[in-house]
Amino acid sequence: MGKVFVIGIGPGGEDYMTPAAREGIMSSDVIIGYKTYIDLIRPILGDKRVIDSGMKREIERCSLAIDLAEEGHTVALVSSGDPGIYGMAGAVLEVKGEKNSPIEIEVIPGVTAVSAAAAVLGAPLMHDFAVISLSDLLTDWDVIKKRLQLGAEGDFVIALYNPKSKGRVTQIEEARDIMLQHRKKETPVGIVRNAKRRGEEVIITTLGEMLNHSIDMLTMVIIGNSNSFIQDGKIITPRGYHL
Ligand code: SAH
Repeated sequence: MGKVFVIGIGPGGEDYMTPAAREGIMSSDVIIGYKTYIDLIRPILGDKRVIDSGMKREIERCSLAIDLAEEGHTVALVSSGDPGIYGMAGAVLEVKGEKNSPIEIEVIPGVTAVSAAAAVLGAPLMHDFAVISLSDLLTDWDVIKKRLQLGAEGDFVIALYNPKSKGRVTQIEEARDIMLQHRKKETPVGIVRNAKRRGEEVIITTLGEMLNHSIDMLTMVIIGNSNSFIQDGKIITPRGYHL
């Protein structure tokens, strides 16, 4: 009986992959993942069997990983960032239950995009924050809007995953409008594209101005709370120390 590792490879830069993730990949003989992620780790894959597939085939990928493990293979299912955060960990565990499979599944965490982006921006997450995905492929937009509303009302720092894609452009505008109902237009906003990997770009702006900058699926948007401020090109959300 083989095993499935569900591995978070971090934001993409090799330095940000944990030794445990590397170890999991090294000890696997089959590597499965979305092509972009496979390409990020290609240099360490040697001549391992690699199965890459398009984004929409998550469930098939999980099912294949379990079948191969049942045949005796050690399989690495790779996700970017952390596999437990909008990644593959949940799906593979659900598919295991569905198939009634006895195989062992080990989840190896990774540096998730929000940590990587926050580090680039300074210290925007120093107080309570909410992470919200703007993708309405698997979640109703009404549910997402409600979470945006309550997060804004609760004065959480808000981090947006999947902020905008080619076919999904209005959600970020609505999200910004919801935030503006509760926060000043001067509220600091950080936009980080390709955090901690090749092609990193960072913009520090405000809630009022954020839509004047380019935002896409490789981008993380972090909206400060009512106390966040900008200092020397970094965003800081005070923890509450009396300095
Ligand atoms: N499991 C991943 C998240 C997958 S959802 C993780 O833990 O990071 C995909 C979204 O994550 C992207 O649309 C983008 O919003 C964000 N993202 C992933 N990597 C990123 C990076 N290096 N820089 C900025 N945003 C990133």
